[in-house]
Amino acid sequence: MERISHFIAGKVVPGESGRRGQVFDPATGRQTHEVDLASTEEVARAVEAARSAARTWGLTSLAKRAEIMFRVRQALDAHRGDIARAITAQHGKVLSDAMGEVARGLENVDYACGIPNLLAGRYAERASTGVDVYSVRQPLGVVAGITPFNFPAMVPLWMLASAIACGNAFILKPSEKDPLASMLIAELIAGAGVPDGVLNVVQGDKVAVDALLAHPDVQAISFVGSTPIARGIYESAAHHGKRVQALGGAKNHMVVLPDADIDMAADAAVSAAYGSAGERCMAVSVVVAVGAVADPLVDAIAARLPKLRIGPGAEADSEMGPLVTGAHRDKVASYIDAARAQGAKVVVDGREHERYSGDGFFLGASLIDHVTTDMDCYRDEIFGPVLSTVRASTYDEAITLVNANPWGNGAAIFTRDGGAARRFGEEVEAGMVGVNVPIPVPVGYFSFGGWKQSLFGDVHIYGPESVNFYTRAKVITQRWPDPATSAVDLGFPQTR
Ligand code: NAD
Repeated sequence: MERISHFIAGKVVPGESGRRGQVFDPATGRQTHEVDLASTEEVARAVEAARSAARTWGLTSLAKRAEIMFRVRQALDAHRGDIARAITAQHGKVLSDAMGEVARGLENVDYACGIPNLLAGRYAERASTGVDVYSVRQPLGVVAGITPFNFPAMVPLWMLASAIACGNAFILKPSEKDPLASMLIAELIAGAGVPDGVLNVVQGDKVAVDALLAHPDVQAISFVGSTPIARGIYESAAHHGKRVQALGGAKNHMVVLPDADIDMAADAAVSAAYGSAGERCMAVSVVVAVGAVADPLVDAIAARLPKLRIGPGAEADSEMGPLVTGAHRDKVASYIDAARAQGAKVVVDGREHERYSGDGFFLGASLIDHVTTDMDCYRDEIFGPVLSTVRASTYDEAITLVNANPWGNGAAIFTRDGGAARRFGEEVEAGMVGVNVPIPVPVGYFSFGGWKQSLFGDVHIYGPESVNFYTRAKVITQRWPDPATSAVDLGFPQTR
């Protein structure tokens, strides 16, 4: 059984805690790896390595850091396929989707290559007579990121590219379900010239996370995962006096107005609901069909499902792979029974797919119609290939329903009416909005973040907001007066 260990101070370090987790190939259902689970002491060793590396790295010139980030980009780009194969082997998503994940992660490295420009401060000459004021942003020191299973390469890159470019040392605690991609990325980044200790990976579970939260030398925590854990991380990090951003789960609605092109809306709903087997925080999990569009839209979605090619992610013609674990697959499937018992209509039951009863953690695409907001399949984040359809009679009813939902990650509208789309953009309570775009993940030079219980904290992740998150501001007010003019003045300094 191959073992996945930690990466500390530039080398692979076998775990000593005696605790290990199991890692599976979701396409076969068989265990392929063991992963070390770090103890509090092992986390402390990683923090110490990061602390000593951060001192020199934070004083490295912007020119040098940018040069190294360009090399990081080259190294990751040259190994896109290897990273994608590591993702597919442990997450299960199809290879083309994994390649897309790597590409979106690389956008964050592209952005970080511009760090000299991003960190250039402001200068106000003669802010007061003989006085100049300027601002700089300096690294925090040691920062940590805790990432979910569903994007084992992209979400780490959302965090670490900016964190490192800003002059910090970073400790990544990846998901214990699919830790291989993070090790590959760490080794590639170290090989590209990032000094030892600037990027460390500690494998682990709650023990490692709690150790990072409590460690006095960890200055900031970036978390992405489910809402209950995000809320706890936010509260604990704040309790320990740390800067924190904790991105949580989602229930993303796609509103389809009566004037929308039905086939285009159905294509988009199917792509966004079942891509990556629905294990995306920006997946569409609810279609809100307005007025007469409902019946033809449900029919059009249902007609597409038997054509989806479901199979192992590594097989070239698969479009949708398995779910990440057997337990998760079974939990997702349980929502189909609950929906039926609660009065919804199960249009397509994914358990009838032939793959469901074979090897691996497969579940076919499921479609549930006539869902209401009190049903479990609407109230919970299912995080699997189950799409619910809710019917609304008017736009107003639809927007009220979307805004009453406690999550606010993404929301989309499908329409040919520019005025309605503009109104939706203004009124919808979500952090990322798509107009005829079902998965509106912002490009790397904008920032990503939801509203309400999809994000605890006030700063979004990657892009411009990440530069603020991973640095602290300093404003310097200076003057060089002639000492002969010096005098005591107890008044509060005023501008002149
Ligand atoms: P998760 O919350 O179970 O785990 C996320 C991370 O937290 C992992 O590293 C895990 O080891 C750690 N963790 C788990 N339990 C913990 C505990 N009790 N204490 C401390 N740490 C703990 O999430 P997941 O199942 O890996 O990922 C799926 C979830 O992530 C979904 O809810 C999805 O919506 C969300 N997600 C959100 C975004 C976003 O940008 N908002 C992006 C991707 C995924």
